Amino acid sequence: MLLILDLDETLIHATEKRLATPFDFVVGKYFVHTRPYLHDFLVSCAQHFELAVWSSASEDYVQEIVQNILPTGVSLSFVWGRNRCTPIISPQIDFYGRYNMDINSYYEYAKKLKKIKRRGYRLETTLIVDDTPAKLAFNYGNAIYIQPFEGEPTDEELRKLMQYLPTLKDLSDVRYIEKRGWRTKY
Ligand SMILES: [Mg+2]
Repeated sequence: MLLILDLDETLIHATEKRLATPFDFVVGKYFVHTRPYLHDFLVSCAQHFELAVWSSASEDYVQEIVQNILPTGVSLSFVWGRNRCTPIISPQIDFYGRYNMDINSYYEYAKKLKKIKRRGYRLETTLIVDDTPAKLAFNYGNAIYIQPFEGEPTDEELRKLMQYLPTLKDLSDVRYIEKRGWRTKY
């Protein structure tokens, strides 16, 4: 079973503005806060899953964050950044209710899992954890959504998630299992 993890607001929170709580490390101009239980979460997941990281941030940033958070003895099968994402234009609706493709349109970076299929992974046995549902709009059956982390020291999401995830590790097809409401299922 392959488990793909997002970075920003899933495993860490990076901010240019100092928060009241102490940061864990600095990358570029960002003060980085690791999500509570991150170390234990990664060690635990590595016992049950093949692990990978896929973020829609720039490649350099992604590599540097990963180097800072990866516990000794835990390895990742791949670390992907924005280059592997697919830009999707989200047209904005103007004052008259018409789609306006010219102004205010913005890109969302989707993570299309068919890209990992080309690498020989099976979607039946692939899970992806992200805080932004739009990024997984093409593969919601593989998705587990986590609440966005913005630096709160009392956050419990990873502690709960590391108890839930092992219940999925032997499924023959993760896409047929309802994973919304996972917090009540461990
Ligand atoms: Mg995110």
